[in-house]
Amino acid sequence: MMARTICANGHLLTPENTTIKVVRIRHGKRGRWLARQCLACRYQSMKKSSYTAEDVKAAIQGAQAGFTMAQLTSYRHPNTRVIRQNQLMTAMQDKPKLASALRPLFARNRITNHKIQMQRLSPRGIFAPSSDVILRSVEAVVPQGLTYHQRQEIIGEMVFAVMEGRLDLNDLRIRYPEFARGADRMFPTKYAPPSLDAPAFRDGASPLIETITRGLWT
Ligand SMILES: [Zn+2]
Repeated sequence: MMARTICANGHLLTPENTTIKVVRIRHGKRGRWLARQCLACRYQSMKKSSYTAEDVKAAIQGAQAGFTMAQLTSYRHPNTRVIRQNQLMTAMQDKPKLASALRPLFARNRITNHKIQMQRLSPRGIFAPSSDVILRSVEAVVPQGLTYHQRQEIIGEMVFAVMEGRLDLNDLRIRYPEFARGADRMFPTKYAPPSLDAPAFRDGASPLIETITRGLWT
């Protein structure tokens, strides 16, 4: 096969105009290989570009909701694209605080979420995090040292709270203790039996104490 002589944007791929870069992951394929990159396109992509506060805000919300930078900037993701790559890069260069807030989010999202379901996504500006993102974010916060049932209980309650809008994804770590206390009441631990005012059944309001038919102290 002949090597390409022009890039997708019509620049001549001469040795002076190309550089070799390592390509890591492409859609559908995994691995690394070397590819030529058109320098004219690269300079184009590095060009500063003006942006609006609204666009940047949409990008921040998207990052918090679990989208990758590509999903928010690339023409390949028209459903989730809220800002051009140049614009976001320029904004991040202008505002180091913004950059240091977004980079870890994008790093997390790349790992958890590069297979996010596109059809779930709502139009620009309104993001609903996918249940996958919610679950992974919650699991990251709940300690491993708990018993299986206790951990599942806490994770379930937290995921439910996020989906109902009672719990923000950004507050998982801060508000974890609330949910941990709730689960302590449901399950006996090595320190204490279940609390008698814990709900007897998951979806019932009657407290455990009302289900006791036999005296505890006889
Ligand atoms: Zn080019």
